[in-house]
Amino acid sequence: SIVVTGATGHLGRLVVQGLLDAGVPAGQIAAVVRNKEKAADLADRGVELRVADYNAPETLAGTFAAGDKVLLISGSEIGRRVPQHRAVIDAARAAGVAHLVYTGVLGGPDADFDLAAEHKATEQAVLDSGLPYTFLRNGWYHENYTENLAPVLAHGAVVGSADGGRIGSAARADYAAAAVAVLTGEGHEGVAYELSGDVAWSLPEYAAEVAARSGKSVTYRQVSPAEHLAVLTGAGVPEPVAAILVDVDAAIARGLLAGGSGDLSRLIGRPTTPLADAVAAALGG
Ligand code: NDP
Repeated sequence: SIVVTGATGHLGRLVVQGLLDAGVPAGQIAAVVRNKEKAADLADRGVELRVADYNAPETLAGTFAAGDKVLLISGSEIGRRVPQHRAVIDAARAAGVAHLVYTGVLGGPDADFDLAAEHKATEQAVLDSGLPYTFLRNGWYHENYTENLAPVLAHGAVVGSADGGRIGSAARADYAAAAVAVLTGEGHEGVAYELSGDVAWSLPEYAAEVAARSGKSVTYRQVSPAEHLAVLTGAGVPEPVAAILVDVDAAIARGLLAGGSGDLSRLIGRPTTPLADAVAAALGG
């Protein structure tokens, strides 16, 4: 089977849909989920459900079978992901899966920002497992920005500390299509893909795009990292998360999320989704 973890998440759902669209029979797709109810629609379509929680290694025994192709979608519980991912990798190795595909972060071992540390440790664990692997080093999603437009429109400002650093983001659907290409294609073992959008943009350009599409005045306001942290925590973002977001902007300022390899459009066989499309969709067309 082709097995997708995090299948009830945003990316996982797109991957399962993409596999079905690519003609993979539902009976050959398995979704690893921690909440069966949340996956009822997948079961209705004939996708096999395998219930497991990354936090409970015993639930992962029996999740995988010899010969499975497994997409490990990185977890969302920041700070807990190394033991979680290790538990999945251990279970995959014990089962003798044929191929382990992992969604990491742009730059791989060279990504020296806080959020990247867990991905680096996971990639190392995959290498240590000896399993045939592919790394999908995902750049940023457009949706990281476009799903947070309400405060931008309310204040007429994109606030950040990334200066004019460029962000080579792509739509989640683009990254999902890359995963589908690897899971259904040949010749991807032992490869690390640096996935990013075809066009990198800056936060001032993003503000201009939102302004143009919404018809409202929206500008970019560059603040110091300390001020950025205060803005985020003032808006209710928990301090540890805010600190990570500020550190991400520092990484963007250093050019670490600009991408530019072209791997993503090559893998999916089409240009990546323009940021403007995601902005338009978020604004309601
Ligand atoms: P989501 O938060 O929508 O999905 C995360 C998935 O992981 C969910 O299906 C969730 O299950 C599952 N999960 C989390 N913890 C566990 C656990 N303990 N046991 C089993 N499953 C678990 O994120 P996206 O789909 O948007 O993104 C996928 C991943 O990519 C994220 O988890 C994160 O690692 C990373 N990411 C990348 C970004 C980028 O810009 N490149 C931005 C944001 C995240 P459930 O459905 O039950 O909650």
